[in-house]
Amino acid sequence: MGHFVTTKYQKLKIFTERHIDNIPQLKEYLTKQQIFDIKVVASVLPFRVNEYVINELIDWNNIPNDPIYQLSFPQPGMLEKHHFNKMSELLMTQPEKNKVKELANQIRADLNPHPAGQQKLNVPTLNNEALPGLQHKYNETVLFFPSQGQTCHTYCTFCFRWAQFIGNKELKFATSEAHNLQKYLAQHKEVSDLLLTGGDPMVMKAKYLVAYLEPLLQPEFDHIQTIRIGTKALTFWPQRFISDDDADELIDLLTKLVDSGKHVAIMAHLNHWKEIDTDIAKQAIKRIQGSGAIIRSQGPLLAHINDSAKVWSKMWREQVKLGIIPYYMFVERDTGAQHYFAIPLVKAYEIYRDAKIHVSGLARTARGPSMSCNPGKVEIHGITEIHGEKVIALRFIQGRVHNWVQRPFYAQYDEQATWLNHLKPAFGEKEFFFDKEFQTIQNEAV
Ligand SMILES: *Cc1c(COP(=O)(O)O)cnc(C)c1O
Repeated sequence: MGHFVTTKYQKLKIFTERHIDNIPQLKEYLTKQQIFDIKVVASVLPFRVNEYVINELIDWNNIPNDPIYQLSFPQPGMLEKHHFNKMSELLMTQPEKNKVKELANQIRADLNPHPAGQQKLNVPTLNNEALPGLQHKYNETVLFFPSQGQTCHTYCTFCFRWAQFIGNKELKFATSEAHNLQKYLAQHKEVSDLLLTGGDPMVMKAKYLVAYLEPLLQPEFDHIQTIRIGTKALTFWPQRFISDDDADELIDLLTKLVDSGKHVAIMAHLNHWKEIDTDIAKQAIKRIQGSGAIIRSQGPLLAHINDSAKVWSKMWREQVKLGIIPYYMFVERDTGAQHYFAIPLVKAYEIYRDAKIHVSGLARTARGPSMSCNPGKVEIHGITEIHGEKVIALRFIQGRVHNWVQRPFYAQYDEQATWLNHLKPAFGEKEFFFDKEFQTIQNEAV
């Protein structure tokens, strides 16, 4: 059996790769071969799913196409054929555990586990010492990875932070040291936003969140105007905000932060309108909003899950109805199972535009489609023709260098490209306007 997580009113069971045979729906709706295939992928990529997602969100009569099934259960296509076959052949021989681990690690190394220079370029220092639980890439915003929040209620199949969940300590961005965070923020008055991320900070007990966040009410942190908390719990464990033991304590904390003048933003990871279609998710949304916190949404555009303008326009409309502000549509990152979930940039733009056309202005607030690249967040601004050349217009939403922000630039039209590094400058130019400066920054960091 999966292990139990106790909540006040109910127990939610969690299943990991060790408990695949204990999930009743798999036995009922899948063939033996399909279950074996799940095990093959789950021996390489992280797998974890809870009972709420299984029982309430997945439509088991629509397997394997159900979007929530695609987003929580390993799919055979997530590994390249040659990787899949190798692991599959090994598992059929009843291998020793360390043989499986060895092959898994070989395959993982091929999957670009550290995208966008996260390990080298974004780690800040305090008195010349690196602070590994923090990331400071853009001037105004510091990311904090609290060590108790480096796991999730369910792992999303497409997650770009997948490498954190496979037990490789070096890859974890975490610190348990609240005081390092506070010292760093006190010294950096240019920072207006603190963003708690993970994993999922909402897997933490409220007492940890209190320990990290309440000290920020002191006057020396008046420059921290906004506290963002990135989470999937709103829809994958809505009980967190309603019936978990410390749900009241959590809501009290949010209320206290808001009442003291901070903007508290719950950054809800949402991929499909089905996630906000249950009564308990709606209750959780209301309860959070009752604290004065604002819920914004973000999520990538993904093949097999939400690659349709209809899904996005419906999701944005539903969000506005529930008082959630659409904030980002991301491009799936160049890591992990990208080849399975990626949508070409040109198609991503078409879906984004088509979805926007069909909603009112209040639902057109999601920025994107945006690539979180090493030089910055790059938005696909449009497809156009300039002096007879078909081009992709792009723009920095965020840049490693301030001065890059909002500057348009142009790439040759390319229907296959799925990431910035596939694009070539338009008009016969040798490089993009930021390339030289970015190269210098990279050289300095080595
Ligand atoms: C997206 C992002 C931010 C926040 O940028 P906003 O434009 O304020 O949403 C901060 N840091 C990193 C590393 C990011 O990727």
